[in-house]
Amino acid sequence: MENKITVNGLSFKPFITQRQIAGRVAELAAEMRRDLEGKHPVFLCVLNGAFIFAADLFRELGINDSTINFIRYSSYAGTQSTGKVKELMGLTEDIEGKDVVIIEDIVDTGLTAQHMVEDLRKRNPASISFATLLHKPQSSKTGFQPDYVAFEIDPKFIIGYGLDLDGKVRNLKDIYVVDEP
Ligand code: IMP
Repeated sequence: MENKITVNGLSFKPFITQRQIAGRVAELAAEMRRDLEGKHPVFLCVLNGAFIFAADLFRELGINDSTINFIRYSSYAGTQSTGKVKELMGLTEDIEGKDVVIIEDIVDTGLTAQHMVEDLRKRNPASISFATLLHKPQSSKTGFQPDYVAFEIDPKFIIGYGLDLDGKVRNLKDIYVVDEP
């Protein structure tokens, strides 16, 4: 793991290693597999941030009789949430009567997650559950509680493993946290 890195003039330090992530993804997958037994879930990966987590989780789950789709919402510019949540895009599959599992990278204020669940509910799925790599409970403005959380973290800005700063550094294999003085 690299030591400190600088992105757009901001300094970041190592936070969660590739190995710790893999361990939690395996544990989460085992828990979800038990809950999804006998079901034919539709996974919805929320682009862009969740694509790496979703790829690992989806393979670790190993449910052959499942599908994955990619949806998009965006509410972030730089490191501050704009508070505005845009429209849900990209859902081409009919989810009526299906067991839907949303795969998200991070729940911060919870606004995106809450809107997404409300929007998806209108399409009458049998159930909706929500898996996230990271949750910042102290940032919540909604009280939204994800069903599956790999890591609960303090409300600091993080990057890597799919998470970006202005579109950059999603490629990092480990997760880094902003290094505040
Ligand atoms: P929320 O609507 O405030 O919960 O924000 C959710 C979205 O904000 C996530 O899907 C991310 O795209 C972005 N986000 C929130 N916190 C971070 C962070 O620490 N690093 C990178 N992106 C973040």
